[in-house]
Amino acid sequence: MEKTLAKKDFPQWVKKLTSWKIYLPKKDAGGRWNYAEADGEDVLETRQATLPPKTILFPQNEILLEFSKSRKGNAETLEVKEVLPPAEPTVVFGVRPCEAKAAWLLDEVFASEPRDIYYWMRRENTTLVGLACTPPPSDNCFCTSVEGSPHAEEGSDILLTDLGDKYYVRSLTAKGEALINAAKGLFEEAKPEDRKKVKAVHTESEKKIQRELKGARAVSEKLKTMFDSPFWDEEAMSCLRCGICTYICPSCHCFDINDEIIDTTPLRGKRVRTWDTCQFPDFTMHSSGHNPRPDKASRLRQRLLHKFQYFVQVYDKFMCVGCGRCITMCPVGIDIIKVLEKVRDHGA
Ligand code: SF4
Ligand code: SF4
Repeated sequence: MEKTLAKKDFPQWVKKLTSWKIYLPKKDAGGRWNYAEADGEDVLETRQATLPPKTILFPQNEILLEFSKSRKGNAETLEVKEVLPPAEPTVVFGVRPCEAKAAWLLDEVFASEPRDIYYWMRRENTTLVGLACTPPPSDNCFCTSVEGSPHAEEGSDILLTDLGDKYYVRSLTAKGEALINAAKGLFEEAKPEDRKKVKAVHTESEKKIQRELKGARAVSEKLKTMFDSPFWDEEAMSCLRCGICTYICPSCHCFDINDEIIDTTPLRGKRVRTWDTCQFPDFTMHSSGHNPRPDKASRLRQRLLHKFQYFVQVYDKFMCVGCGRCITMCPVGIDIIKVLEKVRDHGA
């Protein structure tokens, strides 16, 4: 389904979606862009939010179950109650195509057995409306180097392209069609000249990507030979092990699970899943005290090998979508493109 929507009608579209909870990128009080709930005065902007929309599909903290113990005479009973996410139809507007592609990668991970029902309840209830990047939202974008593009469709249910005074609206799934059908009167059939313009806009935006990693597949092959290289010690020297590069990454998905005790008499508590990071020393700490990744070098190596070697081996896809966030936000300027270029050229 290919339609157009006058930009002035976008707030009307949002208002008509009364059965959905709506998110879109908004500037917060601190001046940062982040996905937040719509408030009726909504416009779409090509901005890169500090945190990607994975926060909606895979929240930073979530309760998996609650437990309590009760005693009757000498008998103790443990009650466990599963806490599933609310089945709440949700729409996220203005998703960067690389962020939707990251959701498509997370689908691979969370679909593997045992299928993660917490992730999938949110994912199946969420419609992602991508907005093609015209222009790229960051100087560090490099999606075209990792088999993506500023108008990639993977993971999106609809892809919008800004044509000046209107959006070109390409529906990609039944979930996307349902959003258009909920406000049918606002849309017009796309015309051949609109399609021509979209093509030109997409080609132009690809040319505006400023960063490039040449030969990403060759990097992937080279990494197989560098596990024991002293290279990682040199590259990780300045790392502060803050974990920012992983928390803000749209495709990173490591988590920890803890039981938190709310009360002891009688015992009452909850099991909580929280984002974790391979950049923290205790991430791989065994209860014996042994740590297979005891230093910064082995942890930086893990981040890069997971994204550019192991994931490629298993799924034939990079687990990096080239959003550039980890480059922009690393406090000591560790630049994933520069590190991977050195890998590619290592020993050449
Ligand atoms: S953001 Fe930079 S300093 Fe922090 S853990 Fe990642 S690479 Fe190290
Ligand atoms: S590794 Fe860096 S550039 Fe790649 S998707 Fe994650 S944050 Fe973006």
